[in-house]
Amino acid sequence: IERVTNILDEPIEIRDRYNSRISIYDAKFGYIDEVVANLESPNPNPTPELGEIRFENVWFAYKDDDYVIKNLDFTIRPGEKIALVGPTGAGKSSIIRLLCRLYEPTQGRILVDGVDIRDLPQAELRRYLAVILQEGFLFAGDVKSNITLGDNYSFDEIQTAAQQTNIDQFIELLPQGYDTQLRERGTNLSSGQKQLLAFARAAIRNPQILVLDEATASLDVGTEALIQQALNKLLVRRTAIIIAHRLSTIRNVDRIFVLKRGELIEQGSHEELVHQGGMYATLHQLQMLGA
Ligand code: ADP
Repeated sequence: IERVTNILDEPIEIRDRYNSRISIYDAKFGYIDEVVANLESPNPNPTPELGEIRFENVWFAYKDDDYVIKNLDFTIRPGEKIALVGPTGAGKSSIIRLLCRLYEPTQGRILVDGVDIRDLPQAELRRYLAVILQEGFLFAGDVKSNITLGDNYSFDEIQTAAQQTNIDQFIELLPQGYDTQLRERGTNLSSGQKQLLAFARAAIRNPQILVLDEATASLDVGTEALIQQALNKLLVRRTAIIIAHRLSTIRNVDRIFVLKRGELIEQGSHEELVHQGGMYATLHQLQMLGA
């Protein structure tokens, strides 16, 4: 702990040397993080009060002033589930790249739980935020290291993550179980199993924020239900941003953000947006017709 900021009559924020908030001391409530921990059931994480994402007037251009993100300004509440929709090139992936700090905004700020992500060490951001890509990417190595990505986790933790995400039953059927070598493109796993393994990789990090690039191709029928179930579990108490390619899967998210050429043109629940009769309603109509 290197710095304590005290603003009169405000809770005191305790920050670590990287300037990220690790605790809040409030005159009335004491250490808020401790209060949260005490209220929790056996597994204290993820913490329901954390995982807020805020884009503050964010502009972004990959080159010159060719802006692909235009003045995005929104707050995603802790635990809220958001779907990003919009045509190819609308800026969905760019938003995720900015959130992961693969690029920095040309203008504006991105904050996670009130901390500018530029002030967070990359390793910390990585632990806080897990991105699950549509092609559950695998590399040559055994099952264990494909889950841990080389980070230090016990076998117990690996197994728990695999159980939570319904992949343990498949791993146990492999010739050497968790020690089985996977081929680079994961050819000894089906696409659905690869997706579950990607979930396990996210679950073990116990991230506060989950970013999911939904699979475009339909997955093998055998694992669809397991995937849905694992995903539902993974989403509990976590903030989630889902890049949706099929509108049918996002009906139940809290809010849908509709993007067009880098701008947020509509936002609301499925019902609200259908009722509004804008671009989302049109897209929805087209998908209903099977177009
Ligand atoms: P989406 O994910 O909604 O399809 P993207 O965020 O990938 O949209 O793209 C938004 C815009 O940024 C597009 O016009 C795209 O061509 C452009 N773009 C994406 N990635 C790059 C890049 N690495 N360099 C330059 N332009 C890019």
